[in-house]
Amino acid sequence: AKLAGRNGLQFFTPSVQERSIRSLRLTNALHQAIQRGELSLEYQPQLELNSNLIFGAEALIRWTHPDLGPVSPSEFIPLAEMCGLILPISQWVMAAALQDASAWRALGSTPLTVSVNISAVQFDHGDLVSMVIDELHAEGFPPDRLELELTESVTLADPEKALAQMEQLYAQGIRLAIDDFGTGYSSLSYLKRIRAHRLKIDQSFIRDLVINEDDQAIVSTIVGLARSMGMRTIAEGVETPEQLALLRKLGCDEIQGYLLSHPLPQEAFLEFIKTPVPF
Ligand code: C2E
Ligand code: CA
Ligand code: CA
Ligand code: CA
Repeated sequence: AKLAGRNGLQFFTPSVQERSIRSLRLTNALHQAIQRGELSLEYQPQLELNSNLIFGAEALIRWTHPDLGPVSPSEFIPLAEMCGLILPISQWVMAAALQDASAWRALGSTPLTVSVNISAVQFDHGDLVSMVIDELHAEGFPPDRLELELTESVTLADPEKALAQMEQLYAQGIRLAIDDFGTGYSSLSYLKRIRAHRLKIDQSFIRDLVINEDDQAIVSTIVGLARSMGMRTIAEGVETPEQLALLRKLGCDEIQGYLLSHPLPQEAFLEFIKTPVPF
């Protein structure tokens, strides 16, 4: 303990303790979050660069704790995954997203796609395929307007089981996107077997794209790879016109990010799609 000094144990221990107390508190509160109506969804629009049209939106979960205020999904989704609550939460997300997206359909001229994030845990436990199909039926929603965003980590625990479920979803006409592409651990040979429709280029490659030639090479390679395998590419985390111009040049198909819009509550999203794209 003496050797650890000022920057050692004494500094480290309290913050770990504090974090785990918060995690416990959040996990307990999460059990009631659905029933108490504390969860909501926001939608971030996605733009197709060729047509300059909004083609869909990603559903992103929000949780407002009565005392602690807004809690980031980056914080509570991992907790929900650890305690199994991810299954009922994901079902709530699916039902709510399909219901909201039905309202977009009633309003818009072009049919919009809604993208829903799926946790790797859902591939290991629970019945992802029948949950999704049941919710589609319940809402009378066309399967080819639903996209599931999966990360490469779904193939980590049990690749065959995950790939079989992806096949079943694909066979239903449901769209599949590989989220955070380029940051995962699965090998390219899985990509060959995953029949995804879209690769989402992780925002870590977009952040410094304009000044970093390595990032440009990576994005250009991902675009070429996707194209040769019949997939589309979407860049996430696009914040500046310079990034957008470069992504057009590199042949990226679609973008999503603060430049176009922050994630919006349903009412604001409905307003957004009524107005022309700002550039
Ligand atoms: P993700 O799926 O990679 O989502 C993209 C994140 O980037 C979102 O954060 C979004 O708000 C943020 N973002 C969008 N545009 C920009 C931009 O231009 N710049 C920057 N810096 N960030 C941008 P958010 O909403 O906090 O979600 C964080 C993560 O939580 C998501 O990452 C996803 O992994 C997870 N998540 C969110 N909703 C759900 C859900 O319904 N189910 C599951 N399983 N996970 C979810
Ligand atoms: Ca996502
Ligand atoms: Ca992502
Ligand atoms: Ca992410």
